[in-house]
Amino acid sequence: MRVKNPNVVILGAGYGGLMTTVKLQKSLGVNEANITLVNKNDYHYQTTWLHETAAGTIHHDQTRIPLKDVVNMSKVNFVQDTVVEIKPDEKKVKLENSELDYDILVVGLGFEPATFGIPGLEENAFMINDINSSRLIREHLEHNFAMYHNEEEKNPARLNIVVGGGGFTGIEFVGELANRIPELCEEYDIDKAQVRIINVEGAPTVLPGFDPELVEYAMNSLEARGVEFITGALLKEAKPESIVYEKDGKQVEIPTLTTVWAAGVRANSIVEKSGFENNRGKVEVRKDMRAPEYDDVFVIGDCALIWNGERPFPPTAQIAIQQSATVAHNVKALVQGHTDLESFEFNSLGTLASLGHNDAVGVIMNDRKIFGWKATFMKKMSDNRYLLKLGGVGLMLKKGKFNFFY
Ligand SMILES: Cc1cc2nc3c(=O)[nH]c(=O)nc-3n(C[C@H](O)[C@H](O)[C@H](O)COP(=O)(O)OP(=O)(O)OC[C@H]3O[C@@H](n4cnc5c(N)ncnc54)[C@H](O)[C@@H]3O)c2cc1C
Repeated sequence: MRVKNPNVVILGAGYGGLMTTVKLQKSLGVNEANITLVNKNDYHYQTTWLHETAAGTIHHDQTRIPLKDVVNMSKVNFVQDTVVEIKPDEKKVKLENSELDYDILVVGLGFEPATFGIPGLEENAFMINDINSSRLIREHLEHNFAMYHNEEEKNPARLNIVVGGGGFTGIEFVGELANRIPELCEEYDIDKAQVRIINVEGAPTVLPGFDPELVEYAMNSLEARGVEFITGALLKEAKPESIVYEKDGKQVEIPTLTTVWAAGVRANSIVEKSGFENNRGKVEVRKDMRAPEYDDVFVIGDCALIWNGERPFPPTAQIAIQQSATVAHNVKALVQGHTDLESFEFNSLGTLASLGHNDAVGVIMNDRKIFGWKATFMKKMSDNRYLLKLGGVGLMLKKGKFNFFY
């Protein structure tokens, strides 16, 4: 039955949740629905830039956007709080400090790191999850460089940086490190040759599944800047001052005070804990982006699973942003009492991986391969395009990336 002036509650101000909110604040009148946005922080952060924040190549304030700059607070009720549990049968959301009732819910709570039970990772490795965990990595790197000359016995573990995982996140992060380390060396009087950036990947090659020519380009570019790759190697344990990996049946230990785990994410565990039917923690949404068993719950971004033939689409900002158009359209339709909802269709705009701020690889438009400055340009343009869509020209000029050629 249609509810008059329903409560539309959106959980998470990430790519999916925030874009849905911005679209709904434009398309729904204040007398049509009460829109509430819940987020841990009073800012949105660009998850896709967190590896830069972590390496220290951009300041965290460039990565985050105050919600008041893009959300119309007179149309949207913003609640800064942490979601603890969703009770879909009661149409309630439990927050740390209160409880909300909803008529229509959008779940956009993003991802959590997956450590696959590898001993010591949770305790001893750093992870690129959000602004605070990324800022911690930057501070930790600086601390180790600063400490190096301040100990009687020099500790090489301070200068060994191990990155677990050679997928997109791991490769983008080592690319930033390769640019940042020479700056840190200069700042702290350290010989560059003493610093090791080591990428450990379980598959036979980094960027598994990506075009082999582009993988070769990426590895050459990164190796030329000092990155070491150990492929076909499984990380076995992270200890406080070393990591252990296994390759060809042999275990090897590398002394390090900095292990960054970038080899796996899963959907926010709140989804599974709240009892939604799920596939490895994600909700296999219907074509209209609703949870299978609840007509009033939409799931978006990394919490949602959509099949692309035999395999699910990988979790990306690109798909989360596109899904927001379908979710916002369908929420509006439900608010206005329509029953014919739109189906989501993914339109791939390509895949680009940065290798630092001045190099990148990728495939765009019908699998055209690009690398070098062209790929860097396209990557920065796509970041700027998102800012333009989210907050207009002003936001793009304030937070965008315009260092195209250096
Ligand atoms: C380093 C890195 C680089 C990446 N690069 C790319 C790339 O180049 N291109 C690409 O397309 N994708 C990339 N991705 C993947 C992409 O960032 C994610 O797929 C995308 O962020 C998912 O969007 P989302 O809306 O589901 O969640 P998110 O953008 O992660 O947002 C989730 C939001 O929910 C909030 N939240 C979480 N839990 C709670 C809670 N309990 N209570 C309240 N609020 C909560 C968070 O604070 C956050 O604001 C990258 C990911 C990483 C980590």
